Amino acid sequence: MITPRDDVALMDGYHSPQVDVDVRLNTNESPDSPPEEWTNAIADALGSIEWNRYPDRAATELRTKIGALHGVGPEQIFVANGSNEVLQTIMLTFGGSGRTAAVWEPTYALHSHISRITGTAVVEGERAVDFSTDLAEVRRVIDAAKPQVSFLCSPNNPTGVVDDEATVRAVLEMVTAVDGLLVVDEAYGQFAPWSADVLIADDAPLVVSRTFSKTWSMAASRLGYLVGPAWIIAELEKVVLPYHLDAFKQAAGTLALAHVEEMNERVSRLVEERGRLVARLAELDVDVWPSGANFVLFRPRAIDGSEVWQRLVDRSVLVRNCSSWPRLEGCLRVTIGTPGEDDSFLSALEEALQ
Ligand SMILES: *Cc1c(COP(=O)(O)O)cnc(C)c1O
Repeated sequence: MITPRDDVALMDGYHSPQVDVDVRLNTNESPDSPPEEWTNAIADALGSIEWNRYPDRAATELRTKIGALHGVGPEQIFVANGSNEVLQTIMLTFGGSGRTAAVWEPTYALHSHISRITGTAVVEGERAVDFSTDLAEVRRVIDAAKPQVSFLCSPNNPTGVVDDEATVRAVLEMVTAVDGLLVVDEAYGQFAPWSADVLIADDAPLVVSRTFSKTWSMAASRLGYLVGPAWIIAELEKVVLPYHLDAFKQAAGTLALAHVEEMNERVSRLVEERGRLVARLAELDVDVWPSGANFVLFRPRAIDGSEVWQRLVDRSVLVRNCSSWPRLEGCLRVTIGTPGEDDSFLSALEEALQ
């Protein structure tokens, strides 16, 4: 009988358990639906799509409009079905058998998972105790493993920690010295005070990935992108499947970019709400990590994290249970919701901690 590749047979899939509850604060989605004008506009766009034709393979209009957000041309933008597909294309292009990717844990599980799926060896370094990036540790890993691809995640999922500019510059220098590529995953970039896109240059091996899933309230549309030097984007275009981005998705993304201002307002509201939530959490018997994203990591001090998670589910509130993940013993991660959802969460948590 046919068997999968040996390494695949030994792998666990990626899981993000869903439970049927009233308040879902577990997957870092936006609590708001997209603007109504956008919903109406894509309903109209649907009627004008030439369904018998392949879509614009280069997705030129969408890439041009995304590029404008970052002050670059379409040749510096790669678009895919969610930023996970962006990351997969990077690994299919720059990773593979005999090559190595470096991650610093705890971080987004898909970086190492996608690397392994593409046959890339993974080396794991550690973050500092406060979950910030530890430059000495980064140097140790990069010098020892000389990875082709190094991943930073800023703001980092699931800890919320933002790498500052000096840190990213320092890592970029180390990566450049070993002829590697630095990927900065900015899935939550809009919630943070700065973006590594300012460091993108033709002679710098740096790419920054973004997604429409979180800030743009469009998780259902599966749309993500990468900003980087044109020569890197050209290599990715060789590897990705032809016509991978369907016409409807291209229209949805393009139309969304007419609503940048509303999106920025939502981001500001969520950042303000995050401040409120963190302040309330600080009054409870939990440790809280400062977050630059639309979620907050916390750890109940007196009661086991899994027990608190279950008590929240019993009160119809779902958060992400990270308590059994390595280095995150006892931790839970809550997505910023609407003020009403967050109040439900807070009162459920107060009860759960008793
Ligand atoms: C949610 C998330 C992604 C994936 O987003 P999609 O664009 O929906 O595939 C990528 N990176 C991080 C860190 C995330 O949290």
